[in-house]
Amino acid sequence: MITGNYFTNNEDLLLHFQSITDWKELVDAYEHGFTDAEEYKKTGNDKLAFAPSSLEEAIEYYKSTLDSVGDLIGKQVAPNMAAMDKVGLKYDNGKVIFPKQMEDAMQAMTDAGLLPYGIGRHFGGLGLPATVQAMAMEMVARADGALSIALGCFNLAETIEKYGSKEQIEKYVPLMAEGKYCGAMALTEPDYGSDLPNLQTKAVKDANGQWRLTGTKRFITHGCGFSDKQSIILTLARTGSPTGGARGLSFFIVKTQDVFIASIEKKLGLHCSPTCEVVYENSPAELIGVEGYGLVKYSMGMMNTARLSIAAQSMGIASAAYYEAKKYASERVQFGKLIQEIPAVKKMLTHMDREIAAMRCILMEASRSVDLYLWREAHFKHTGVEEKEIKKDETIRFWEKLANLFTPLSKYYISETVNVIADNALQIHGGSGYTEDYDISKIYRDARITNIYEGTTQLQVVGSIGSVVAGMSATGFLRAYLDKETSKFAPSDRFLRVRKLFEKVVENFGSIKDSATRDSLAFEVVESAARCINGMLLERTASRLVDKQKSDRLALAAEYHIDSIATIEANLIKIEERGKTIA
Ligand SMILES: Cc1cc2nc3c(=O)[nH]c(=O)nc-3n(C[C@H](O)[C@H](O)[C@H](O)COP(=O)(O)OP(=O)(O)OC[C@H]3O[C@@H](n4cnc5c(N)ncnc54)[C@H](O)[C@@H]3O)c2cc1C
Repeated sequence: MITGNYFTNNEDLLLHFQSITDWKELVDAYEHGFTDAEEYKKTGNDKLAFAPSSLEEAIEYYKSTLDSVGDLIGKQVAPNMAAMDKVGLKYDNGKVIFPKQMEDAMQAMTDAGLLPYGIGRHFGGLGLPATVQAMAMEMVARADGALSIALGCFNLAETIEKYGSKEQIEKYVPLMAEGKYCGAMALTEPDYGSDLPNLQTKAVKDANGQWRLTGTKRFITHGCGFSDKQSIILTLARTGSPTGGARGLSFFIVKTQDVFIASIEKKLGLHCSPTCEVVYENSPAELIGVEGYGLVKYSMGMMNTARLSIAAQSMGIASAAYYEAKKYASERVQFGKLIQEIPAVKKMLTHMDREIAAMRCILMEASRSVDLYLWREAHFKHTGVEEKEIKKDETIRFWEKLANLFTPLSKYYISETVNVIADNALQIHGGSGYTEDYDISKIYRDARITNIYEGTTQLQVVGSIGSVVAGMSATGFLRAYLDKETSKFAPSDRFLRVRKLFEKVVENFGSIKDSATRDSLAFEVVESAARCINGMLLERTASRLVDKQKSDRLALAAEYHIDSIATIEANLIKIEERGKTIA
């Protein structure tokens, strides 16, 4: 495994941090006038001691946090991950035993104060915007996918912070921030995976008014807790009738001690991430928020954050695959030359390079869209602005719509592309890639889950298609966004061709009347949207660079557009030909 500081040795990530990200816009939205620092001055609340009080301090705080994560993960933790994966997990009568390397890695993160990267400052968390969280998650996942999921589970406290009562927040969030409780998200059941609205785990109130849950959840990551720490299992269960659909579902807190872990899965990858079957037998539970909002509001909110987190995880695995392939190709000699000089190998490496650049652009843009609406909304709520006034705020409405599109879109694009990248990286290793002698086999296995969990790619497409079509209407938000962002640079002719083709795809798709045909062609539309948005982002990000960095990025964007034109032209043909037969 390539080691070193995963922040400073990742050129593209560093470029985003140092030159591309518009920190002023982001800090204005997230730190909202540096109220945490002001509160610290007035109250001396030591949880806010690190809160920045200026733009420069904020950038320095985010940078030093990322530098610490990169240093710890890349130098201290990464070297142990291959051995950890080989040890794997053990299950013994309801208990899961973790390898020592995993426990040590989590302890090191806790000791360095980096564990609660997704939790707010008032509750002992680091208080980082989504953009910085995604960068941190990427670095952890570059070392190991299972470790990044474990870390994400501790940070599920964020969901309680968002939707729990004051008592629940005070009772659980600080303990999760300290690493005393892990978290888990229990949605999936044996008969209901993608079909969450119909799940059947039952929640009833007993004679004492205590909620109790009965049912079985499958594939629950860290349902068993982490090591000797229990999980707070955020569970979706039915309070309404069995046929009541999504509106009959509510959201609960259940502790590991009150359920039985019937087994853990033996899996293709993520060998140190416990995927548990969780049995609830009259298990005591606390309701979160309002009955009936479990899926439509709270789980969706939790999943949006989790999807961004899986997109960042996929980004990290892709970086690992790319750097391993690059290293191998720079050392392996065939036909008297390094294989990196052979055109077919070089082509795979440059393809990976430009896809990684595109993936990071959409990941950063999805995070930006969350940062630009969520914290503005949170600040309004905190300062007592009425809900109906918040709903009218144009900035919140615009960026929320974009976040609701970019979250599934980035999850789909990045998790699909990491699989292509891992596949090519293994290919570059030749036969050695298929052995356990190199890290690429583990990276390849770990990549495979990313386009399945947190909603399969097909479900991300279901979640994106409506927004793409509505967003591209004459007054749609996506059209307005593309126009606004493109006005920030001089677009190339190739990009304008990509945009035109994408518009045609949406137009032709709109004329298909048969709903089954539309569903079967939705992927082609969403893929075309992703390629158009990514192409725009590659050019927009180039406009923030100078000299060679700028010309290199524009050259990369030009190559990306060629792939996009080929893909979108093909999509157009499929939509025109298959669509017209039934329209
Ligand atoms: C390692 C691992 C960890 C996991 N962790 C968690 C966790 O912590 N918490 C949790 O709740 N769940 C977890 N899951 C479950 C995961 O989210 C589900 O596996 C996933 O959502 C798919 O559900 P399913 O496996 O039942 O597949 P199914 O829903 O049966 O889908 C099978 C196939 O049909 C397709 N399909 C189904 N419906 C549609 C549709 N309407 N349109 C288009 N295509 C469709 C799917 O895309 C897929 O290709 C985990 C799973 C794994 C393997």
